[in-house]
Amino acid sequence: MDWRLANSLITLRTQVNAMWPNRSKASDGTIGDAAHQAQHSEHNPNAAGVVTAMDITQDPANGADMQVLADMLIASKDSRTWYIIFNRRIWQADTGWQPYSGTADPHTNHLHISVAQDAAHYDNAAKWSIKGVAMEDNPTQKQVYDHFKAYDVKGEHPSGEPTQQQLDYYAAHPWSVLYLALLDYNHDRRREAEKQVAVLSAKETKLGPGKYIV
Ligand SMILES: [Zn+2]
Repeated sequence: MDWRLANSLITLRTQVNAMWPNRSKASDGTIGDAAHQAQHSEHNPNAAGVVTAMDITQDPANGADMQVLADMLIASKDSRTWYIIFNRRIWQADTGWQPYSGTADPHTNHLHISVAQDAAHYDNAAKWSIKGVAMEDNPTQKQVYDHFKAYDVKGEHPSGEPTQQQLDYYAAHPWSVLYLALLDYNHDRRREAEKQVAVLSAKETKLGPGKYIV
């Protein structure tokens, strides 16, 4: 079946690419794969053959911090935004951010946006009111705070709440310093997960294949 991406999302993708020209596109997506097609998803073309959802890769090392993009989209109050999913949370205008567990994918490697389902909205190709963060600028203390909170939505990390010292430090340095610190934190989380997997594999070896004790 022929399909095309909604015009509003083509515009958004063009703006995102211009804002962060070196961003990774590893987890970008438009039309759904077989798994998506088995369930209702705006990644599947609608009756008019239009895909009304898009995934954008999380790549803060190259500036493309999807929490920043989500913040900008929300602040713009654009009626084309239906909902956004990023980093274990889902945002809709009437509920704000809520915990997300809709699929097994925690959406930590990409932001998902679905646009409003009527053609007047999804095919509105007007520019989105978002503008980039200059990496050499310093974030405000509130922006530092919001980023710490956004990266610890489940309270899994003792430093989810920034100390005054951290607020002072990151607000006195360029955005890039904060991005890299948060990226390291995500790596810590991944290393923890890898350790757990190694422990489970060792147990499996001892008991014989297929005999998990957890
Ligand atoms: Zn998606």
